[in-house]
This record gives sequence, C-alpha cells and structure tokens, in this order.
Amino acid sequence: MFRDREGMIEQISDPSTIWDMIIIGGGATGLGVAVDAASRGFKTLLLEQSDFAKGTSSRSTKLVHGGVRYLAQGNIGLVTEALKERGILLNNAPHLVRNENFIIPNYSWLSGIFYSIGLSVYDLLAGKRSFGRSRLIPRSEVIRRIPNIRQKNLVSGVLYHDGQFDDARLAVCLALTAMEQGAIPLNYFRVTALTKEKNKINGLIAKDQETGISYTFRSKTVVNATGVFVDEVMVMDEPELRPMVQPSQGIHLVFAKSFLGPHDALMIPKTKDGRVLFAIPWHDRTLVGTTDTPLTAYQLEPRALEEEIKFILDTAAHYLTQIPTRKDVLSVFAGLRPLAAPQGDQQKTKEISRSHKLIVSASGLITITGGKWTTYRKMGEDTVNRAIGVGGFPNRLSVTQTLSLHGYKDSVDWADPLFVYGSDALNIKSMAKGNPAWKEILDSRLPYIGAEVVWATRYEMARTVEDVLARRLRALFLDARAAMDMAPAVANLMAIELKKDENWEKEQVVSFLSVAKNYILF
Ligand SMILES: Cc1cc2nc3c(=O)[nH]c(=O)nc-3n(C[C@H](O)[C@H](O)[C@H](O)COP(=O)(O)OP(=O)(O)OC[C@H]3O[C@@H](n4cnc5c(N)ncnc54)[C@H](O)[C@@H]3O)c2cc1C
Repeated sequence: MFRDREGMIEQISDPSTIWDMIIIGGGATGLGVAVDAASRGFKTLLLEQSDFAKGTSSRSTKLVHGGVRYLAQGNIGLVTEALKERGILLNNAPHLVRNENFIIPNYSWLSGIFYSIGLSVYDLLAGKRSFGRSRLIPRSEVIRRIPNIRQKNLVSGVLYHDGQFDDARLAVCLALTAMEQGAIPLNYFRVTALTKEKNKINGLIAKDQETGISYTFRSKTVVNATGVFVDEVMVMDEPELRPMVQPSQGIHLVFAKSFLGPHDALMIPKTKDGRVLFAIPWHDRTLVGTTDTPLTAYQLEPRALEEEIKFILDTAAHYLTQIPTRKDVLSVFAGLRPLAAPQGDQQKTKEISRSHKLIVSASGLITITGGKWTTYRKMGEDTVNRAIGVGGFPNRLSVTQTLSLHGYKDSVDWADPLFVYGSDALNIKSMAKGNPAWKEILDSRLPYIGAEVVWATRYEMARTVEDVLARRLRALFLDARAAMDMAPAVANLMAIELKKDENWEKEQVVSFLSVAKNYILF
C-alpha cells in the first residue's frame, strides 16, 4: 500500500468525523497508545508535529532492558515490569530486538561477587522471559570478549543478557502497525489548541506543517503523549498549571566498531561520579553513553554540552586501552528524558523515578509521561484502559501482548544489512533488482542503498531528507559526515518519488546540513 499523505489528509478532513481518540505526539509513547487503541477497534488518529521519533525516541541508548541501575536502586517493580515487556517485545518484533551479551568488568573480587548476585536477581525477576543466565567469567574471557578492555587490575567479569534495538526503526514499525490496525498516524501535524464544550475537551486544532492549513478535529478523548513537551499541551488545557516535567539530557558518542570488539557490550555500573556507562555494538559501530544533565529549557533538536562530551571521553579512556578521542567521534547526539519534576530541591535527576505517570485533568485531557522505550506497550495499554473510562467506551481488552508488529519474521539473519525491515526486506531487494541505480550503495562508509530511500518515501511516510537519513536509515547517528555526503543523492531520489523540483532538493540538502553539523565534533 502506498502511504499517500494527501489521501490520508483527505480521509481525516471530513468535519463530521468524531474520533474515539486523538493522540498528540508520535514518539514511543504516542505510537504505543495508537497501536493499543486501534487494535482494540477504537477510531484512532495520531498527530506528530515533526517526524515520528524526531524527539527522544530516536536518541536512546537502544536498550530493551529491565534496567540494572534501577535494580541497584531497589526499584524491583519497575525492573520486573520492564523485563516482562522486554520479553513481549522480543516475541512480537524479533526482527528489531537482539539478545545481547553485556560484560561488567570487575576490578575487585568484591564487585565480582556483588554484581554476580545482583544479576542473578535480575535473571530471577525475568522469570520465564529470561534472555539467558548471567554468570561470573574469568579475566581471560573478559579480554577475549572485549579485546580493548583495560587489563590492569582486572579480576573477572560478569556476563549478563539484555535486549538491544533500533529505536527509530521500532517507531516507524509501530506507526505502520497502528495503520494496519486501522489508525491514521500523521507526521508534520502540530497541535496548536484544544477545543472544549461545557468545560470538557471535545477535540483539538492542528496545523499541517507542510501546507500551513489548520484543521479542527472532534474526538471523544485526547491523549497528550508529547514527552518533554507535555507541559505545553497541559497548559493549552489549564493555563495556570505548574510544570510537571524536568528535562534531563543524555548524550551518546558513536565510534568505529574496533573500539569495543565484534559482539559483546560493555557495561560500567558505577563511573567516578556514580553513573552507568554503556558501550554497545550497534549497526557495526560502537555507541557509548550516556549522561544525565538536568536542563531548564528543552528543544526538539537538543545539543550535547562540552562537559558531557568530556565526561564520556574521559570515562571511556579509563576503561579502554585504545583510547577514543574527539577525532574518532563519528556522531554525537543528545536526547531529553521527560522526568517528572522533583518534589524536593535536593533530589538528583538520576534518582527521579523512571516509572510512567498517567494524569487525567478535570476537562478530560489524558497525559502520559515518563517511562522508558522498553515499557511503551504497557504505557499504551494503561493509557487506553484509562481512556475507556474517560470516553465511556465499551470495555475491550488490550491485545498488544501477543500482537506481532509490522515486518514480523521468525528467523532473522543479523548479517543481512536489511534485517531491520523484517519481512519487508524481500520487497526492498526485489525493488533494487528491478532498478540497477537503486542497488548502488549511497556511501562506502555505510551499507545503505538507493532502494531504501525510495522505500522510506513510498511506504514509511518519510517527507524530508532528514527523515530518511536520521530515522529510516540511521546514517546521521552512525556517521554524520557520511550522512552529509549522502544528502544530495537522497534528496534527488526523494524528489522523483514526491514529484518535487530542483529547488526543493536544494532546500532539503541545506536544511539537513544545518541539523547534521551538530552531530559532528570539530
Ligand atoms: C539519553 C537517553 C537514553 C535512553 N535510553 C533508553 C534505553 O536504552 N532504553 C529505554 O527503554 N529507554 C531509554 N530512554 C527513554 C526513552 O527514550 C523515552 O522514555 C521515550 O523515548 C520517550 O518517548 P515519548 O514518546 O514519551 O517522547 P518523545 O519521543 O520525545 O515524543 C514526543 C513527541 O511529541 C511531539 N510533540 C510535541 N508537541 C507536539 C504538538 N504540539 N503536536 C504534535 N506533536 C507534538 C514531539 O515532536 C515528539 O516527537 C532513554 C532516554 C534518554 C533521554
């Protein structure tokens, strides 16, 4: 099915339509709500002001995990829930979740014992959805698995299992799943106001960011799933409201694969200042992060701070023998955690709860915030359960625990560069076969071919060069300079598909380069 934007807009612009639910925000949370609502048979519209996963949901550490750190904080409930969701996601989208080995290096006997016990509890909490047993491994095995590990004083390691995924690809997959279930997910539609009748929300106004046309939509329920932006929407409902979100920034640096090793991830449970640091193999690169920096302001395209870059480089240098430097950084990206604002002044952001919160205002606005990518499905289920009460809907049960996501495929060949597409990969390959120009690799530093650009534009709702290079392909996050070099070719392929002229192509390249330069270190 060609995902034709004009056709979708025509479908939604009938003013007599009354939706069961309109969801504001197309990140992990909003998309999870849309899949849950649509699969229960509710008439669902999702509006995203930019692209799907443009916000935090493309900027995570790419872990589907219970959270070893939360276990150390004693948050058993959160960890158990997330481990259950980890297992559900692996079952429903095996093409997007990989079972990964994580190695904790021990530089004292005591920490070996401590983490062995801790990770055994982690395994126990996962129950029948375990990804594999953790175990204490000898020093020699740590070195074999992570050849670049600092060997001085290394005693042993703990090997445990967790999930690893591609966040923006999962978001696209959820948008397509929601659509298959009957929802309409639209990107580049910004919600500007809520409408009310007798003090109850009965819809909203949203502006098509491409045409500038505003539409009024009527709906029985409205869900605010806008991440760090939730306060902006809540204020549309109650102008006097106190902010409930305090953003906390986390950044990642991306290096060549050789800085880690071929397969396994490294986990440093306690850095000098008490944080957790991961170094993870991701699409043939090494992803290192993250930080936890409280911010007072937020933006859609956040930027890494110098002190955060220094923290990651310094910490990596402490644990690796081949030390990564600024010039080795292929990409740097920042994301904002929508943490609930602290109650007391002394609370640190790393201690603020990561569990999700659901709030229903007096006028019926349903706000869902917090949580993690890993728990997006449960957040969707909980939100729709609440919406059933608010909208007076029939009590239909959630089906998402066993709902296969778009592209589901039993056996995954991780060596296939198109594995993230699951069952769609075959179609992309046959498209490439049919047109020799689309078979070409776009840049020798990355595996992407022209057919993927065409596919993203035709079938995955990509509207801009950035949509393709940042979130359909992950070029910007994997090698920002390569992505910049690919931009003209991508613009040209898209222009043909979208019937745009040369000016559009030029503007797209300029606009992409102005974003991409923030992913490069000088
Ligand atoms: C550094 C970092 C690392 C993380 N790592 C992990 C991890 O490894 N594993 C894990 O499980 N979780 C992780 N998380 C948490 C996870 O990424 C977030 O919980 C999740 O992405 C939040 O999704 P969201 O949909 O709530 O927010 P977002 O992804 O920010 O989506 C909100 C969307 O709302 C849109 N929006 C805002 N205002 C409007 C409007 N007026 N109209 C229309 N749309 C609007 C925005 O454009 C945005 O796309 C991490 C978070 C950070 C910051």
